[in-house]
Amino acid sequence: MHDPASLAEPSITELFGRNSFSNAVMREWLPKTCFVELLEVQAGRKELSLEMADIVADAMKSWAIQNGATHYTHWFHPLNGLTAEKHESFIAPTGDGRVLMEFSGKELIKGEPDASSFPSGGLRATFEARGYTAWDVTSPAFLKQDATGTTLCIPTAFFSYYGHALDKKVPLLRSMDALSKQAVRVLRALGNCSSLRVVPTVGPEQEYFLVDKAYYDERPDLMLTGRTVFGSMPAKGQEMEDHYFGAINARVAAFMRTLNNELWKVGVAAKTQHNEVAPNQFELAPVFASSNVAVDSNQLVMETIRRAANLHGMEALLHEKPFEGVNGSGKHNNWSIATDDGVNLLEPGENPESNARFLLFVTAVVEAVDRYAPLLRASAAIAGNDHRLGADEAPPAIVSIFFGSLLSELLDSIADGKPLAGTGSAHRIELGVTTIPALPVDISDRNRTSPFAFTGNKFEFRMVGSSQSIATPNTYLNTAVAQVLSEFADVLEAAPDKRAAIQEIIRVSYSAHRRVVFNGNGYSDEWVKEAERRGLPNVRSTVDALAVLARDETIELFEAHKVLSRAESISRHHIYLEKYSKQVNIEAGVMVGMARRTIFPATAAYAASLARDAAALAAIGAASTAIEKRAKRIAELTGEIAGETERLEAVLGEAQGTDDVGLQAKAYRDRVVPQMDALRGRVDAAEKLVDKKAWPLPTYEELLFRL
Ligand code: ADP
Ligand code: MG
Repeated sequence: MHDPASLAEPSITELFGRNSFSNAVMREWLPKTCFVELLEVQAGRKELSLEMADIVADAMKSWAIQNGATHYTHWFHPLNGLTAEKHESFIAPTGDGRVLMEFSGKELIKGEPDASSFPSGGLRATFEARGYTAWDVTSPAFLKQDATGTTLCIPTAFFSYYGHALDKKVPLLRSMDALSKQAVRVLRALGNCSSLRVVPTVGPEQEYFLVDKAYYDERPDLMLTGRTVFGSMPAKGQEMEDHYFGAINARVAAFMRTLNNELWKVGVAAKTQHNEVAPNQFELAPVFASSNVAVDSNQLVMETIRRAANLHGMEALLHEKPFEGVNGSGKHNNWSIATDDGVNLLEPGENPESNARFLLFVTAVVEAVDRYAPLLRASAAIAGNDHRLGADEAPPAIVSIFFGSLLSELLDSIADGKPLAGTGSAHRIELGVTTIPALPVDISDRNRTSPFAFTGNKFEFRMVGSSQSIATPNTYLNTAVAQVLSEFADVLEAAPDKRAAIQEIIRVSYSAHRRVVFNGNGYSDEWVKEAERRGLPNVRSTVDALAVLARDETIELFEAHKVLSRAESISRHHIYLEKYSKQVNIEAGVMVGMARRTIFPATAAYAASLARDAAALAAIGAASTAIEKRAKRIAELTGEIAGETERLEAVLGEAQGTDDVGLQAKAYRDRVVPQMDALRGRVDAAEKLVDKKAWPLPTYEELLFRL
């Protein structure tokens, strides 16, 4: 990484993509015919042959070695949501005491990490603990520079001996294919003969907090769980909203410079950065890309944020809710669909035909979001998001769509067969004929409360948690929309009059699914009641949200589009439940440890010291009742802390001892989480009464307001 102190930096154009084996670099390094063939492979029109793989591997190796690489790794997304890598050196001994640097096509497209300890949810017996990996030709390899040196990272799909997807990339790539296939069918039926593929595009906005490393190191909860399990809000919270878009402080600015440079080097187009609403909370957004490149880039963004923070003496918190009572962090997954010849299908057009197409695709998204709302909710179901969804300034757990009044009225008028109000026209809208009023790109603040907002030429899915891989949300979204498009295509292909068919499809679909459209304040209590009246699901907990993954209709949806087999679906349900339990288990364990070994001793000692002070004052006849009272209260709280800790330990033991994964996750949610809250309540009450100097942990004030 860049030395933060060095000032002479190359220009962005020199820097950008320097460490990425991008198409531009491949064009230089590969023989022309080979490069052209590779483009065909990337477009999905050809398979990668072993001869080609050998040529590419050789070029990749030479380029990497010339840039200082000693190792390579198949970089992949196991189901724990992190990225994994196992480094191999290029070295091959020649037998006479020297080495060659070797890397073949076989190694490029198939590695065999002994990956038996990644979660597979029963997909792979341990006796055949091998996972196979294959280079994802559509995501560029890149060089990673850190203390171990320079490593060539090869974005990779990971599957088992029997071809089961063991990672998050394989299903994502399959969902992209499914979406493309169905969207192209619709386009063909509309008379488009030129687009060969349709690609989902994604631009994820990443939110995170920064804290001073010295404070972080004194908080075992932050170190082990990424969030504060204890801590009470200082008098100044975020009420002033003075942090949002405020001036960026010098240390953070230096960090951001490092971060941008590192991302630009690997070809991630980091674009915007600003302060977020909460103190010490920030956001980074890249220029959007195809969804699998965006997913890989986002994994790199998260990793690079952490490393850059460390270089500047800070720690980055990617958890959804590091601080209670303060905004959490999300990841706004901006999503659209574009043709390979550059048309954004969710962008209003300039003529009646393109507007009809736009409205058709938008309607497909509405229907998909309504029908598969539980699936979208499940895609954001992780323990961290249980603290966030429905809490301060975060979208509720109800999936709804924001359109703004104009687009809603337009779709309503089509659904109801009535003229569009306010246009002065007495005629109903005839799609493909009537000119539709221009839709403004909505950048108003109102839509910040919607979990799925239309923002002019894309949708913004805001439920996704900040620490998550965005692979799963995008896989589900692509598949849901693919399903609805396949049904639209069936109707369109059979219809003699396409124009009338589009009108009819939109009328029927929008009438049935407009209940999911809500343009009001998604944070309000009225919305919760209104959503209930509309029959929209409001699933508050991860455990309940995940249930949809094991339902037959979900399994069949994924099977129909060849995204996940039955076994793969079941395994994921299992793994995600287990992950929930593990996370709560760690948090509860950390709480018990901190309460017992750090907080109890501190409050007990402080109560005793107050009692001694009171006695000393009483001995000289001075007033001591206030001090005595405080000593008593803290002694009481100390006792309560001890009691709640014991109870937490007991329910934790019960949950740990539960065998069935589903019952175990429920035990954590219903027994452990409430007991964690009870203990926290006592500790946070004590924190407010204990002398700051006697409190054994850095406080929210220090964590949130010092950098
Ligand atoms: P805001 O904070 O107003 O939502 P930002 O500029 O922070 O806006 O983020 C917008 C994100 O949306 C960026 O990452 C951008 O690349 C992405 N985006 C823009 N157009 C598209 C599109 N067609 N498909 C997917 N993402 C897009
Ligand atoms: Mg946004």
